[in-house]
Amino acid sequence: MKLAWERQTGGREAYQVNELPGYPDGNLDYIMQKADAHQSERLEKSNKRAKQLVIHWAHRLSRVIFSPGTKTSYYHCIGTFECDQPDCRFIDRPKTDPNKLKLQKEHPRKCAIHGGPLVYRHCDATFRVVDVPNTLTLRHSGTHDHHMPAPIKAEPSAVATLKTVLAVNPDVTPLQLATGTRTRPAAHELSKSWLNVSRLGYVRRKVRTPAAMNAHSIQYTHKRRGGCRLIRWLALILS
Ligand SMILES: [Zn+2]
Ligand SMILES: [Zn+2]
Repeated sequence: MKLAWERQTGGREAYQVNELPGYPDGNLDYIMQKADAHQSERLEKSNKRAKQLVIHWAHRLSRVIFSPGTKTSYYHCIGTFECDQPDCRFIDRPKTDPNKLKLQKEHPRKCAIHGGPLVYRHCDATFRVVDVPNTLTLRHSGTHDHHMPAPIKAEPSAVATLKTVLAVNPDVTPLQLATGTRTRPAAHELSKSWLNVSRLGYVRRKVRTPAAMNAHSIQYTHKRRGGCRLIRWLALILS
């Protein structure tokens, strides 16, 4: 969401945003004002900061540097696994853990459409997040010359909308959320990470608890869960 073009320094453009982008690309700075003192205080805690930082590229934290009043976290993109057939969009998300990624490179998944092993696409793009009391700045460098991996985590604004929906109708089921109604968007329209109904169900359970709704502090780590394929399939048919 580009609110205003702010300045250009040394070939970098900077944008004021009210939510950090999920797929930052190019040499760009995104500056997010923390809304109020209360939010600033909450963002001091690293798990709260992680909630604000929803980057969909597969990435790894390489180092963190503290200086008075500032925490700077350095990340780099770890690319994708892609099919070698032109125009095929079948991809696999690289594992964040270096040892697991090494195994994944040795035994890549096969393309479900073409059958060939997926090819690892290295990426040089990096980004850093500068956290100071009133702002969170995402400084991105480089371009991602590979396909976008699917989101695995919902954006803070999508979680906020889901909270509103559940506050009005706490008994709505994950399947109902997935399919939406004439007056309510389907969950995947809020966040593509909610195409996965089992993940949506997990987030819903966390959002619905009174403590979570009061504290605005839901955690939504995503674990792969089996057993919900039927619901997912039904959701796709009905949507
Ligand atoms: Zn393919
Ligand atoms: Zn990349």
